[in-house]
Amino acid sequence: MAPLQLSPEEFHTLAQRVTDLSTRYLADLETMRAYPKTSGREVADLFDRPLPQTGEGERAFADLEQVIAHCRPNVPRFYAYVLGAGDPVAALGDYFASILNQNVTAWRSSPAAVAIERSVINWLAQALGCNGFTGTLTAGGSAANLMALAIAREAKLPANEHGVQRKGTIYASTEIHMSIGKAVAMLGIGRDNLRLVPVNSDHTINITNLDRMISDDVRAGYTPIAVLASAGTVNTGAIDDLQQVAATARKHNAWFHIDGAYGALAAIAVPKKFAGLDLADSLSLDPHKWLYQPVDCGCLLYRDPGHARKAFAYTGDYTKVLNEDPLESFAFFEESMELSRRFRAMKLWLSLRYHGMDSFREAITNDLTLAQHLAKRINGEPGLELLAPVTLSAVCFRYTQAPPERLNQLNAAILKRIIQRGRVFISNATLEGKFALRACIVNQRATQADVEEVVTETLAAAREVCNESS
Ligand SMILES: *Cc1c(COP(=O)(O)O)cnc(C)c1O
Repeated sequence: MAPLQLSPEEFHTLAQRVTDLSTRYLADLETMRAYPKTSGREVADLFDRPLPQTGEGERAFADLEQVIAHCRPNVPRFYAYVLGAGDPVAALGDYFASILNQNVTAWRSSPAAVAIERSVINWLAQALGCNGFTGTLTAGGSAANLMALAIAREAKLPANEHGVQRKGTIYASTEIHMSIGKAVAMLGIGRDNLRLVPVNSDHTINITNLDRMISDDVRAGYTPIAVLASAGTVNTGAIDDLQQVAATARKHNAWFHIDGAYGALAAIAVPKKFAGLDLADSLSLDPHKWLYQPVDCGCLLYRDPGHARKAFAYTGDYTKVLNEDPLESFAFFEESMELSRRFRAMKLWLSLRYHGMDSFREAITNDLTLAQHLAKRINGEPGLELLAPVTLSAVCFRYTQAPPERLNQLNAAILKRIIQRGRVFISNATLEGKFALRACIVNQRATQADVEEVVTETLAAAREVCNESS
């Protein structure tokens, strides 16, 4: 047989092997450790192998067991970062997308994939009350935010042809995600020109400060490029007052972008919390967070695709679209920074159709309810305190039974111990200089009993750490 070819029988055997292993992994999630017992040395020794010059055949697949053993699995007690716990139906979509190996550049490269992506984007926009918005699927929220700011800059301070000519500014609260600081740097706007606006006690952007900072900058000769709002800050899930930020952006003729990578999809369950989402010029979301899709799947929605084309259309002859039909001449690369694009819509399309929006609404509602339950348990525990209001599903808290000056170090040690104990996996945040333990529930497998283990494990870890140091 020619190199790299598989017979149908070989393919079927291998696929069956992966399917069996996947089925076992999913069944075992309930009882697996929340974090593997491993070390940098151990995984390096296991996986840092010589480049194989001759094929190992099925032996390569045998090592998938070792991969599982050293992965951070999607257990029901995983609440770190902001990361969905992965829908297996969507995973099958990902697998099938790779089998089809479509390159979703433009309609003529992949008719079905383009139509499916456009349809899925329309569904997402509708589900969030942003009817009429279009957009593109991206690698994640960071890519969506970068694209949004590139579009905003080209709309308000065109620089594609001659580079940045005037001083422009971007506004966001001090709680904005780090991807914004990266995007501003990559776009040549400069992080000095990212104005970080103070927040209120509930961690939302202070509108009076925002308005004053913009006015001061305009007087000093800056062009306000964009005003950003968080629809769920990454630390605490705070939702800025979207209507007021929208009005302020409009008043100063700035682009209005919402970073909804963490929270916006929760509008499917609790739309009232997100009033003003539809006022955005652009909106980032992350289906690989609160729609439980396997990584990667982000999304940028925008009101006017003309602005996206102004930023990104730059077509070489080899990609010129030679078609007049409005559907058949559509090209994602005219509205995206990417040319070759994965068929990400396949997983969303299968997953949304298989489960239906009612099931997603219910899963998101459960996450929100579990977060409130956890907050209540923490409030009822004398050794623990909540460090921020729980607006969405991020719960920030800490252990308090030590002198104040020791609390940051102690809670960092407690977090390390919680992870070593292997029952729950949570992460951390810094809030007003305080080291916070942070449980973010975006997990369709979580139950009330699972979430309660955050409390029992924190107290158990605290006891261990305190005993050792006394
Ligand atoms: C996760 C997140 C991002 C970045 O998204 P990625 O998919 O990780 O690139 C941006 N903003 C917020 C608020 C987030 O929670």
